[in-house]
Amino acid sequence: MPKTLHTATLYQSNLSLSSFFSPTPQTPKILINNQTIIIDEFSTRCENAFYFLTHFHTDHYQGVLKSMTVYASPLTCELLKTKSKCSTTAIPLKQPVEFARKILVTAIPANHCPGSVMFLFEDLVKKELILATGDFKFDKESAECANWEHIRAQKLYVDTTYLQAKSILISQNESIKQVVDKLKTVFKPNRTKIICQTYAVGKERIFQRIAEEFNIKFYPTSAHRLNTLKIIYKEQFDKYFVATDTDLGVLDVMYGTGKENVFKNMYNSFEKVVVIHATGWQSKFSFEQRGKLLLINTPYSEHCDYQELLNFCKMINPDEIYSIISEQDTKVIQQLTKQTGPKIDTWISKKNNINLQEINLAEQEEILKEAAKRKQRNEKLQKLDVVDISDVVDLE
Ligand SMILES: [Zn+2]
Repeated sequence: MPKTLHTATLYQSNLSLSSFFSPTPQTPKILINNQTIIIDEFSTRCENAFYFLTHFHTDHYQGVLKSMTVYASPLTCELLKTKSKCSTTAIPLKQPVEFARKILVTAIPANHCPGSVMFLFEDLVKKELILATGDFKFDKESAECANWEHIRAQKLYVDTTYLQAKSILISQNESIKQVVDKLKTVFKPNRTKIICQTYAVGKERIFQRIAEEFNIKFYPTSAHRLNTLKIIYKEQFDKYFVATDTDLGVLDVMYGTGKENVFKNMYNSFEKVVVIHATGWQSKFSFEQRGKLLLINTPYSEHCDYQELLNFCKMINPDEIYSIISEQDTKVIQQLTKQTGPKIDTWISKKNNINLQEINLAEQEEILKEAAKRKQRNEKLQKLDVVDISDVVDLE
């Protein structure tokens, strides 16, 4: 049973732990009360460490071994089982759990992809709070999911995806509305095919809203995506999705410039083929008509934009702040939030910093061939206790 100690009040009433300063971790590990805690970094092998996973995106879970026990939200545990035979321990949402002696963890919804959480650790010996966000989005809606103003974490490990680009994005709702409004001008039942480009997990709000608005169902082109959708939507799956390409929606899990022409040819019998590309690296809504093909680009992200990030950091107002993206980001965010701290380090290495949007069709074919080879290799490796990482890397 979850303990009901200090952090339980986060969701009920005022909490104000006094500030305690302690040495800063400079490795992918957090040390609390002599226990090693490792988050989203499974290539670091450490005996007796506690491994936590914030969400089911490849760049966060790769390296998981069968022999590990992974702590994650209940949904992330379910999703992880599609890729790894590791043991999992589900941390219930918004309830402090004493997972090690005198250390509590609370999983707080991160508003990133389904199942994503931040981890708030509480050191009951030092009376210190440490918050690790993983990938997250702090918008107006998510601000209401916890009594954030009462969380005074001494250390913050934060997702700074759009810090350097200083991107300011329209809200997710606004972005979806623009897409739906444009679709309304072209959509004809049975004559319009709608393709949403997506990842193995994430951006569900876009295609779910389109499915509801136009009364269509989506066919996920990848078997893995089909599985993740069944796990995420459960009994609601049939309401939004079909397992074969028999309806008007398609979920495509591989980005690629020029791929639109493949869809145009594939669905030549339709009057209109619409391809929707939603990404935070897109600065503004735009569309392009190419004969029967309509391309819609919309700024949409499941990470904080620049302003949301600053709002969040200032609200938490930690003594120490570290980026989970890069050393440079740590310097910038410390300056911006007027924090001074000891030497800065990169907490999580982003191993595959590829801009998938710039991959052309030829390169994509190469990637698919590589993926097939990797899959074969992974089948052998899996027998040796290594997780399959043959997916597209989820960079958002
Ligand atoms: Zn992510």
